Amino acid sequence: MAYYQSKPAAGRHFLQIPGPTNVPDRVLRAMDNPTMDHRGPDFGRFGKQLLDKLRAVFKTEQPVVIYPASGTGAWEAALCNTLSPGDRVLMCETGWFAHLWREMAERLSLQAEFIQTDWRRGADAPGIEARLREDRNHEIKAVAVVHNETSTGCTSRIAEVRKAIDAAGHPALLLVDTISSLGSIDYRHDEWGVDVTVAGSQKGLMLPPGLSFNAISEKALKASETAKLPRSFWDWKPMLAANATGYFPYTPATNLLYGLDAAVDMLLEEGLESVFARHDRFAEATRRAVRAWGLEIQCEEPRHYSSSLTAVRVPEGHSANALRATILEKFNMSLGNGLGQLNDRVFRIGHLGDFGPLSLIGTLGGVEMGLAAAGVPHKPGGVQAAMGYLNGNA
Ligand SMILES: *Cc1c(COP(=O)(O)O)cnc(C)c1O
Repeated sequence: MAYYQSKPAAGRHFLQIPGPTNVPDRVLRAMDNPTMDHRGPDFGRFGKQLLDKLRAVFKTEQPVVIYPASGTGAWEAALCNTLSPGDRVLMCETGWFAHLWREMAERLSLQAEFIQTDWRRGADAPGIEARLREDRNHEIKAVAVVHNETSTGCTSRIAEVRKAIDAAGHPALLLVDTISSLGSIDYRHDEWGVDVTVAGSQKGLMLPPGLSFNAISEKALKASETAKLPRSFWDWKPMLAANATGYFPYTPATNLLYGLDAAVDMLLEEGLESVFARHDRFAEATRRAVRAWGLEIQCEEPRHYSSSLTAVRVPEGHSANALRATILEKFNMSLGNGLGQLNDRVFRIGHLGDFGPLSLIGTLGGVEMGLAAAGVPHKPGGVQAAMGYLNGNA
């Protein structure tokens, strides 16, 4: 029996957590090639074309660097390359991931200021504008926002955050975490004037965990020349110098890069706009299923609905964790757990990455059967509602 199974189960495991996501066969096959000499002549050619074409996914003409690290590493890289000890960073508490990023900022000796939310909507752009207007001496050096808050299923409107910063006439850098949105939800690094975009491999990019990214604006690059936080592994400078010829300053995760090459091709062949529309459609079908079940969506602001995952509240007195355990046991499907204050209160359905209409119907079928099996009060007909919507909008 495979090491990842605790009991024999036929059929593929349904990995419907909002990352890591299912890795398409084409990406698996691409990684199944011999590891090459990362200092040899062939690598530079491969690396250069990959770094160039990767920019399209971020919608940027600026450099994108790749770290052999999970997304958390790219969070740290964004902070330590642009800021100095004691610098103020304005963050928005959209959920668990925003909370973790803030804790990291504090451990790195930054002064993090948090604009609170109730974890049921995205970042508060007017609140950011108001705080920046008060900051007449420009002590706030960066605004850091999570684009898609994976703990709540709320997506912040980055264009509105950009407008808020501009309306306040404030020079702060804009740092954005797109770890669970890049390659799933519309995102535009250049057009939205983002200074550092943070991304990871294992969600919309359909790769295993292990790579993370920074897309870097000219303004961020300039800030890095004077930023004083200590950095070595994360330092952009040697990375960008080596990347100019397609190489890396230390050993890159070669086989994950083969996978990335295939994943970027897949996204660009489908077309980013089609990829986003597909995610929007599956998200809407999922919400229709949740409403038909009579359950509540964690996100209360329809303009902030996430297209990559839906967090669903279980009725008072019931356990989201027990429901997930039943679904895993009976139907061989993993759903996301509630994080932080949402532990046991919500379960999260990931509908991102390599995901088609029948993946969605299978996922929702597992949830609907699980609700019945776990004795969670609900109405049947969620899958039917999703099928009806997909048939009208496929
Ligand atoms: C998954 C995730 C992270 C953490 O990334 P790791 O790869 O686990 O380090 C951070 N932010 C968001 C929004 C995420 O979804």
